[in-house]
Amino acid sequence: MDKNIKQIRDNFPILKRKINDSPLIYLDNAATAQIPVSVSKKMMDFDETYRANVHRGVHTLGMWATKYYESVREKVKDFIHAKSEREIVFTSGCTDSLNLVANTYGEQNIQAGDEIVVSIMEHHSNLLPWQQLAMRKHAKLKFIELDQEQKLDLADAKKKITPKTKIIAVAQVSNVLGCINPIKELAQLAHQNNAVIVVDGAQAIGHFDVNVQELEADFYAFSGHKMFGPDGIGVLYGRKKLLEKMPPYRLGGEMIANVTREGATWAPVPQKFEAGTPNIEGAIGLEGAIDFIEHVGLDKLRQYEQDLIDYVFPKIQKIAGLTFYGPQNISERSSVISFNMQGIHPHDLATALDLEGIEVRAGHHCAQPLMETLGVESTVRASFAIYNTQEEADKFLSALVVIKEFFQNELR
Ligand code: PMP
Repeated sequence: MDKNIKQIRDNFPILKRKINDSPLIYLDNAATAQIPVSVSKKMMDFDETYRANVHRGVHTLGMWATKYYESVREKVKDFIHAKSEREIVFTSGCTDSLNLVANTYGEQNIQAGDEIVVSIMEHHSNLLPWQQLAMRKHAKLKFIELDQEQKLDLADAKKKITPKTKIIAVAQVSNVLGCINPIKELAQLAHQNNAVIVVDGAQAIGHFDVNVQELEADFYAFSGHKMFGPDGIGVLYGRKKLLEKMPPYRLGGEMIANVTREGATWAPVPQKFEAGTPNIEGAIGLEGAIDFIEHVGLDKLRQYEQDLIDYVFPKIQKIAGLTFYGPQNISERSSVISFNMQGIHPHDLATALDLEGIEVRAGHHCAQPLMETLGVESTVRASFAIYNTQEEADKFLSALVVIKEFFQNELR
């Protein structure tokens, strides 16, 4: 094992665990990545030395906590190359961020007859808020389909995006197909038609450098737990001019400028969107996650994941009886591999792998319209991260072969 990777693995105590008497091989990183000690320690240190509510008290601890919390916003701004920290809204996760945009910007700007364009590969988090909005407003929801290689069909996008389009909502990376979508081209199509683009970055963030300005994204949503951070914290990036015009999402403490018996005025952005006590500890953990990623280096992280996939993909493709979903050209893939094994239900395959300590996901991956398009109900998904090794990949591949032979003998 590469010495650097061993050092990285040492930061993740969970990787030393055994599952069903075998060493844990964690290949469900697309669902949730593991947390390094540095992140848990940072959160614990905060609780032991700074814990207080933010933006409220005049006492010293409260001021320290506020300063710390706000410094994370600055850090996130730099991490995604936003122009201003005012463009960074803390949310409870990617799902919350996407609902925020649909229920504020969407509610304000969509009218009967307008069109909202999503891709067929969207996670339900980036589909249902738009589907419901379209229903409420008597707008039309249109889907960009897949091309022959099972990636986003840009030619179809050009047909579907028209002057009637007001919002385009697309994932930067699919959680099933593993394809990396052409966000900049879609953003330019959106802007040529005076529409905005909402990017679901859940599977992109922490895997490669995300530059919201270069992508020309109007909104960009992601979660902390998929980038080595804690659960319950996420981010919505929004262009300041757009955020300023949007109505608040939730109402309550801390998001107001002034309240009278008759009404209220709102705090400036981003506080306007952060009603109530935020997940302060989660934000501190998010800072730790960014520190971890920057310590490893995003280029190295991307290269390492790419090398692992370049190693696994040709080998897994040689196992007869597997069907793969998403583009087969490995240079276009993220570190997600979705597949099915002939004659074995994905849940049975995942359970058999679990018996060997190998944790993969099986199911519809919250992407049922995509499953329908692919003609399946569910798939198995293995997703790799910086702490996975070639040795683990080999064990995964061998386990697949053994399980396949076992089930084939059972069926004979
Ligand atoms: N979009 C995509 C592409 C995802 O993979 C996920 C998580 N599976 C989400 C959105 C939702 O993220 P969360 O559950 O953290 O809100």
